[in-house]
Amino acid sequence: TLPVIALVGRPNVGKSTLFNYLTRTRDALVADYPGLTRDRKYGRVKRGETPYLLVDTGGITDDVDGIDSVARRQVQLALEEADVVLFLVDAREGMNSADEAISTMLRKLDKPVILVTNKIDGINAEIATADFHRLAMGNPVAIAAANGRGVNELLQRVSAEL
Ligand code: GDP
Ligand code: MG
Repeated sequence: TLPVIALVGRPNVGKSTLFNYLTRTRDALVADYPGLTRDRKYGRVKRGETPYLLVDTGGITDDVDGIDSVARRQVQLALEEADVVLFLVDAREGMNSADEAISTMLRKLDKPVILVTNKIDGINAEIATADFHRLAMGNPVAIAAANGRGVNELLQRVSAEL
């Protein structure tokens, strides 16, 4: 079976944009994967040496009431099946409390996590990314999922974990 890479992060950071960028090939979408649901979308990624399955999830919010519990369960399932986690944050908006809550959760998971600062197009990537070192999730990879900048470096970081 293919290694599984899960995309997590709060809503609107660009998870689905990155998912679409990496799975843009014909037949990439996996329609018959066991456990497939509306909130977990699977695609095959064939770039780089090792093919893998990429899982897009709904966003993680830090509100604790029941409304998001279904989405949260989907994220949990994605994290359980993941070999590597891509933790996306929004370089334009900067760090917020949801990012910190997610990083706390991911640390407990004890799986390889790659911090990805997205939306660096048209801004100073170094300055925008520096703040996120405070999350202590390692060296962030700066990308723009909208145009593919930085994605090759990201793919190399993923391959190194597989
Ligand atoms: P998700 O909720 O994490 O899946 O986020 P989406 O992929 O739906 O993206 C949320 C918004 O951010 C959309 O309006 C995207 O067009 C925008 N977006 C995503 N990636 C980028 C990027 O690299 N640069 C910019 N400027 N906008 C982006
Ligand atoms: Mg999405």
